[in-house]
This record gives sequence, C-alpha cells and structure tokens, in this order.
Amino acid sequence: ERTLGILGGGQLAQMLALAAIPLNVRVVVLEPDAQAPARLCAEHLAAPYTDPVGLNELAACEAVTLEFENVPVEALDALHGRVPVRPGAELLARSKHRAREKQALREAEADTAPFIVIESAPELQGALKQVGGRGILKTSELGYDGKGQARVSSDFELGQAWEALGGVPCVLEGFVNFEREVSLAVARTPDGRVAFGPLVENVHRDGILRTSIYPANVPAGTEEKAREMARAVAEHWGLEGLMTLEFFQLPSGPAGEGRLLVNEVAPRVHNSGHLTQDGGGVSQFEAQVRAVLGLPLTDWQPLHPCAMVNYVGVDGAEPEWEGIDALEGTRVHLYHKAHRHGRKLGHVNLVAPDAETLRQRLEQLEKLIP
Ligand code: ATP
Ligand code: MG
Ligand code: MG
Repeated sequence: ERTLGILGGGQLAQMLALAAIPLNVRVVVLEPDAQAPARLCAEHLAAPYTDPVGLNELAACEAVTLEFENVPVEALDALHGRVPVRPGAELLARSKHRAREKQALREAEADTAPFIVIESAPELQGALKQVGGRGILKTSELGYDGKGQARVSSDFELGQAWEALGGVPCVLEGFVNFEREVSLAVARTPDGRVAFGPLVENVHRDGILRTSIYPANVPAGTEEKAREMARAVAEHWGLEGLMTLEFFQLPSGPAGEGRLLVNEVAPRVHNSGHLTQDGGGVSQFEAQVRAVLGLPLTDWQPLHPCAMVNYVGVDGAEPEWEGIDALEGTRVHLYHKAHRHGRKLGHVNLVAPDAETLRQRLEQLEKLIP
C-alpha cells in the first residue's frame, strides 16, 4: 500500500482521494476545517497547515500534493527535505502570485495578454493606455472565481478599482476580446514523462465557471498549440505532478487561426477537468495521483463527448434533482458543504454518444440548475 498526503481537504481533495483508493493508495489530508469535504473519504487530520503533528504525518507519506495553492510557506518549509512535495515550492510560489506567474509564463515563452505589474499608486499613471485602454485589474494574491478583480476602461475607474481592491499589489491586464475560453492540463512525472488531458471549452458566469464542454469547438490545430505551450511551461518550470492552463482563444486574424493566450495556471486538477470523471477515460484526479507517485501515465482523454455544469449556491433556489436524475447521461457529484450563496456545492457531469446529442442534453440540463 502506498500513501499520498494532500494539503487541503476541499472537494478537489475529496475527488483525488476517491481516485486514489482503487490504485491501492491511502490518502492523508491536512485541513483545518473539521467539516471539509475530504473528511469522508480520506484520513483527515483536522489541524492548521503548520501543525507539527499533522506535518509529521504528511512527512511519513510517499509524496505530498495539494489541492489549493495558498498553503502557507511555513508548511512547505517544514516538509522540505523530508518528503517530496509535488508540485514543488518554487512552482507553487509562482502560481499563487499573479505577477510572478505572468512573468514566469513570459520566460517560458508562453503568450499572455499585455500586462503591467502595479505595486504602488504612482504606477497607475499611464498604465491603462499601455495595455490597450481597457483592462482588468487583478490582485496578485488570493483571487479566485473572479473575486479580487475589476474591469476598467478609464484612468478614473482604474484609480477607483485600485482603492476598492485595497491598494494591494496588482496586475493590470489588457482586456482580451476572446472567441472562447479553453483549458488543458499537463502532468509530468518525477522522471520527466509528460502527458496531457483533453482540451476543454469553458463558459463563465459572473466570474465563476458555469459549464465545461468536451470536445472544445476550436479551429484545427488549436489543441496542438495548447499542448506545445503546456509542455514548454511544464518543462521550463520543472513541473512534478499536474497543472492546468487556462487559455483565451482569439478570433482568427492575420496572425493565423485560433491563437492562444495563457490566462492563468492552477498547479493542480481544475474545475474544468471534472468532466473527465464520467467521460469514460482516466480522470484528471487519477492522472494527478499517478503523476505525483510516478506511476504509469498516458494522456487522459474522455472516450465520449461530455460536459459539466457547476452547482453553485443560489439563495432561495435549488437544482431540480429529479429532472437531473431523469435526464439520460447525467451523474451528480456533491461536495458535502453547507449551502451558501455563490459557493461551489457540486457539479453534474453529462455524457452523450455524439456532439449533437450532448448539445441537446446540455440545453436541458442547464435549465434544471439555477
Ligand atoms: P479562477 O476561479 O479561474 O481561479 P480567477 O479569479 O483567478 O478565477 P481569472 O481566471 O483571471 O480569475 O478571470 C476570471 C474570468 O474573467 C476569466 O475566466 C475570463 O472569463 C475573464 N477574464 C479574466 N481576464 C481577462 C482578460 N484579460 N480579458 C478578458 N476577460 C478576462
Ligand atoms: Mg485563478
Ligand atoms: Mg481562472
């Protein structure tokens, strides 16, 4: 029996643990919240991330991975030299800091939207013009689900947004008129083997992922471009484990068809990859477990067209569960979390024999989830 430690015990840890068990891997989770989703399917150490006893238990595992990037540096320092943490501390330091991440993407020769790092108010001067006159100001740290960012289209709005976000270090990005958003996960084993997940198309609502669809409806050659970029970043950053890249796909233009810009990188499985649980192939969760433990790993692709719709808490409204269960091809995944407005509480995966049937079923499913 092998043992995998996970920092964080949310729904991603829950689903990582569910994928690890059949591989004969026992999972130990360090997570302060006693009610966290992973409590039901992993050995749950309900203690702060810096708790010495909890960290000792993780250090006794074969390897440690994580399900969210904002793990305190002290926890990573305490594990250093005692157990491999995959992805490693250096990669994590980058991916939890937007400005550093964007700079490191440039160093790996991945394309991004134009951006300017803003650390103090005087740097706001002239910045918007430099990124194209319209942009999004994002805090460098702690933003997710569109929190910690503001759209701006004048210097006045930029100044207001900076104040509203608390005057903390930020990145100002040029606004991208993308055709669609896609994502792709890449895994790399400690001995350097690389494998890819599917290219998935993503639709956001109010800054939160609403729907993911496979296959993505993209121009020919887009997936190869995404893989090339993902491989370059994985190798340049020395990835061990799995990470997911979010891309903007640009409209076709003189620069060619389907150009991609990297939006951001998550050093782990990603909400857009949940559809791999029910597409018939290996799931992203199994892929992360395999990559982190150096087990055999090939590209993990769904065998059927599939989609996912997030169940996000809406005050006073519930999904129509009976209708969802009755709809052919659906599978419900719940996270055992208390209902709160705007909180991700679960998702519904959907499979179909062909793309057209998927589209029709997805239209039905979307109506059943507020
Ligand atoms: P996540 O939950 O994915 O971590 P986040 O809070 O880190 O979200 P981003 O992924 O940077 O935020 O942005 C959220 C969404 O806002 C994007 O998926 C995209 O729809 C939109 N967006 C972000 N940056 C830009 C941009 N430069 N131009 C146009 N739209 C953007
Ligand atoms: Mg993010
Ligand atoms: Mg994002």
